[in-house]
Amino acid sequence: MQQSVSRENFEQWMMPTYAPATFVPVRAEGSTLWDQQGKDYIDFAGGIAVNALGHAHPELQQALTQQAAQLWHTGNGYTNEPILRLAKKLIDATFAEKVFFCNSGAEANEAALKLARKYAHDRFDQNKSGIVAFSNAFHGRTLFTVSAGGQPAYSKDFAPLPADIQHAAFNDLASAAALINDRTCAVIVEPIQGEGGVVPAEPAFLRGLRELCDKHQALLIFDEVQSGVGRTGALYAYMHYGVTPDVLTTAKALGGGFPMAAMLTTDNLASVMVVGSHGTTYGGNPLAGAVGGKVLDLINRQEVMDGVEARHRWFIDGVEAINKRLNLFKEVRGMGLLIGCVLSDDFSGKAKQINLVAAEEGVMVLIAGANVVRFAPSLIISEQEVKTGLERFERACEKLVRGLAT
Ligand SMILES: *Cc1c(COP(=O)(O)O)cnc(C)c1O
Repeated sequence: MQQSVSRENFEQWMMPTYAPATFVPVRAEGSTLWDQQGKDYIDFAGGIAVNALGHAHPELQQALTQQAAQLWHTGNGYTNEPILRLAKKLIDATFAEKVFFCNSGAEANEAALKLARKYAHDRFDQNKSGIVAFSNAFHGRTLFTVSAGGQPAYSKDFAPLPADIQHAAFNDLASAAALINDRTCAVIVEPIQGEGGVVPAEPAFLRGLRELCDKHQALLIFDEVQSGVGRTGALYAYMHYGVTPDVLTTAKALGGGFPMAAMLTTDNLASVMVVGSHGTTYGGNPLAGAVGGKVLDLINRQEVMDGVEARHRWFIDGVEAINKRLNLFKEVRGMGLLIGCVLSDDFSGKAKQINLVAAEEGVMVLIAGANVVRFAPSLIISEQEVKTGLERFERACEKLVRGLAT
């Protein structure tokens, strides 16, 4: 007999780093989930921009189980067929010439920052170590990446922090220019700040960063952990902007729910990483390679990219119609299927409350800070699921506006 478990056990047994919803999902298909009581939920959260092909996609199930019957893991003393095929697909689809695989977004950014430091030390000198990042950025939770992130609340308790990281204001080129100089080894930026409130970069801002990096021989790192793998309606957001980074990190949707990540870069930059410079036990194992390869095959298609644009309209039109009646949001922003609904001043700070009421009504949404309700659904969510989810979301918004939210 299996132990019977419920949400209450979370407080009993789990380290209190999360505050999970009051229900426990047990099963899912497409963009619909069911909890322990059999109640259904429409999924606009997508496992935080991860389940880009929804839940239980038949072709991903097949890729995973076929590989599971064949070879799970060898460690990086051996390479494997699925991961080599995925590397080639990523290289063919992007600017990249070399790929490093790991298991999470934080690890991909950690690798990118280490590469930037080593490249500068090997090719220039030890003083070229400055990293410029941005306020409100999110790059992960390792000590290096959380220090590069622009939310001091997440890093300050873990001091002393890695040195020589400075923060400029996002979308403010002058503030970045004031910090970038010949001592800078890298600039790290999200083309769209996700956790920071769903804020797209201005095209001129990214172009300006590219020029500053070229001028000062610093690497431009795009953190596309959230914006990548079709999320914005292009395979990677840099393609929308027409600004090519030196290093790109990708995770979240890359595994479609299987933990995996990659750092993409050029031959020249990759050449400073030699045997023993960096590594990870699980990175690029055959299971991850098989699933990631299938995810990329299924997403990197024009019809899927066009579908993201169509779904973007369904969401924007739907939320704007809700808002016409309820006047809850002052702005709806974002790209593709990364959408942020910014609460008006009367409701500021209430995003978490909407998230809770929405779950009661049967729709899962994300927040991005205290004032932004975020949607990051499957890229192939059905029109019916969007319609049903938005009806439930409207009921949640109505409860909040009428002061009926508990
Ligand atoms: C989620 C996220 C990360 C961290 O990824 P993990 O897999 O949680 O380590 C880094 N950067 C961005 C932009 C993210 O959205």
